[in-house]
Amino acid sequence: MEIPEDLIVLGIEGTAHTAGVGIIQGKEILANQKNMYKPETGGIHPRESADHMTKWLPIVIKKALEEAKISLKEIDAIAFSRGPGLGPCLRTTATAARTLALMANKPLIGVNHCVAHIELGRLLTGAENPITVYVSGGNTQITHYNQQRYRILGETLDVPIGNALDTIAREMGLPHPGGPHIEKLALKGTEFIKLPYAVKGMSLSYSGLITAATKLYKKGISKENIAFSVQEVAFGMLAEVSERALSCTESKELMFTGGVAANQRLKQMLKQVAEEQDATFYAIPKKLAGDNGVMIAVTGALHYVANDTLPIEKSYVIPRWRTDRVPILWRA
Ligand code: AMP
Ligand code: MG
Repeated sequence: MEIPEDLIVLGIEGTAHTAGVGIIQGKEILANQKNMYKPETGGIHPRESADHMTKWLPIVIKKALEEAKISLKEIDAIAFSRGPGLGPCLRTTATAARTLALMANKPLIGVNHCVAHIELGRLLTGAENPITVYVSGGNTQITHYNQQRYRILGETLDVPIGNALDTIAREMGLPHPGGPHIEKLALKGTEFIKLPYAVKGMSLSYSGLITAATKLYKKGISKENIAFSVQEVAFGMLAEVSERALSCTESKELMFTGGVAANQRLKQMLKQVAEEQDATFYAIPKKLAGDNGVMIAVTGALHYVANDTLPIEKSYVIPRWRTDRVPILWRA
C-alpha cells in the first residue's frame, strides 16, 4: 500500500528524550520540529523527561503547524509513539495526541517507535525489503520483514549499544550523550585492548563490556585507547550478526538507522559487510536517523491506509511493545 498524495498526518514522538512533531502530506515532509531533553547530570530521568514533554510538546506542535503552514483542521489523522519507551514519557505524549485528535475530531493512530524507524528508512532510502540495523540509546535490533511482521533476527540481551556507549562515557567523566565523545576520542586511540566480545547465536550482550571498560579507566588506561577498543569490539559484534543476517536470508539490502547511525566507524564496518555479501548499503540521512516526529507521521499514514486506527478508550501506552508484535498490515 502507498501513502495517498493528499493525505496529511501529524506525528508525535515522545518515547524517551525527544519531544518531536512531524507533519507529512503524502510522501512529502511539511514539518520536522523537535526539542531534546538533556539531563544535567547522569542519564535520562524518566520523570524529568516526561516533564520536559509536558512543557515542550505544545510549543513543538505549534511550531510544526507553523512550519507546515496548515491548521489543525486540515490534518487527516494524529499519530503518536505508543511504545516501546519510558512509561511517564509515553503517557504524556499519548495525552497530547488524544487531546489533538479530540480537538480536531480526527482519528488517532498508535505507532511502534522501532517500526517507525524502519518505515522512515524505507521511504527515505528507497530500500524495499532490507535487513535493518537499528541502533539507538534504547534499542539494538536487526530485523527483516516476513509475513506481516518485522521479525527480530538479532538483538541485545541486556543493554542497548547507545546506552552502553553513554554509560562508559559517563564513567570516564564525559557529558551525556556520550556516543559522539567516544567516537571523537576513538580517532586518537593507538592501542587495542582486549574487551569482552559477547555474541551468542544472533544475540548481543553489552553489559560485560561496560564493566570491563570502566575497570580499565580506573586502572589508568587512556580514554582514547578505551574509546577505540570499545568501538572496535562493540561494533564488531554488530557487524558479525548483520553479516549472518544477510547471509542466512540472502537479502540484498542492508539499512542502517537510529541515533548511533551517526557513527562513521560503525557505518564503515557495516558498509563493508554489505559489500562482502553483495548487498546494497543504505544509511538514513543523519538529520532523520535519531528520534523524530516525521517517522511517527509516516508510519501513522501507513496504518491509516490499512484502516488501522485506535479508539481513544483503547489508546493506552505499551512501554515494552516488541517490534515483532505489530501486524504490518500495509505490506503484502
Ligand atoms: P536515539 O535514541 O536514536 O535518539 O539515539 C541516541 C543515542 O545515539 C545516544 O546513545 C547517543 O550517544 C548515540 N549517538 C549519537 N551520535 C553518536 C555517534 N556519533 N557515535 C556513537 N553514538 C552516537
Ligand atoms: Mg529511537
